[in-house]
Amino acid sequence: MARFICVTCGVQYPDSDAPPPRCIICDEERQYVGWNGQQWTTLDAMRAAGYRNEIREEEPGLWSIQTTPAFAINQRAFLVQTPEGNLLWDCITLIDDETIEAVRRLGGIRAIGVSHPHYYATIVEWSEAFESAPIYIHADDAEWVVHRSPGLCLFPEETQSLFGGITLVRLGGHFRGGLVAHWPAGAEGRGVVLCGDIIQVVMDRRWVSFMYSYPNIIPLSEAEVTRLVERIRPYRYDRLWGAFAGRQVLEDASGAVERSARRYIERLHAP
Ligand SMILES: [Zn+2]
Ligand SMILES: [Zn+2]
Repeated sequence: MARFICVTCGVQYPDSDAPPPRCIICDEERQYVGWNGQQWTTLDAMRAAGYRNEIREEEPGLWSIQTTPAFAINQRAFLVQTPEGNLLWDCITLIDDETIEAVRRLGGIRAIGVSHPHYYATIVEWSEAFESAPIYIHADDAEWVVHRSPGLCLFPEETQSLFGGITLVRLGGHFRGGLVAHWPAGAEGRGVVLCGDIIQVVMDRRWVSFMYSYPNIIPLSEAEVTRLVERIRPYRYDRLWGAFAGRQVLEDASGAVERSARRYIERLHAP
């Protein structure tokens, strides 16, 4: 028995004797099956191959965790420290003793929140390593949760209040249940949004964008982008931390989101 991991998206499936016939997350238009066909690995194989995690402080109380060398989609996870416990925001596939020790020294994990299925990674392993920490996922994405544990919390509401002032907010768009995390104490109290790629910080980091599919470049509609921006507008934030290394808007992030939505919609109407 093994818990097989899809090499292209990094999502782990539950115990089975043989690899699953397909990865439902990759075999779908928002992802893709690798050019050499569906391939699988395991955590043991990754550890033996020398993958490790790098943990760094991005701003006071916010730590990024990223695997090196790059694996699968190569997103980063974040540990958000609050006086009432820590949130693991989004997830990465590799978890090892060194990472668990390092995260314990930073106060452990009280809860896990995941923006959307591309970052489900090894959520069950992370939860198991940290006292069955609850895993918050929006109920509208339930069909994509391939590996479940008793700690799974599928919530149907538009928002979910956690601890330390953190709120998970459903923005939708890229996935119907697409979540971001609002952390009001972040950015020295000016407010942070951890956005995964529900809002994508682009190369010109004064801007963001929004897509239905990033690898296959399928845009969202005007209505979807409008709705997404309306849902984040009530929250005060100055900084955005995106899914990929270096992809952050360090100031006036709420302005960047508004400007970027206007630019996007103008483009949809361009002759
Ligand atoms: Zn996959
Ligand atoms: Zn994605």
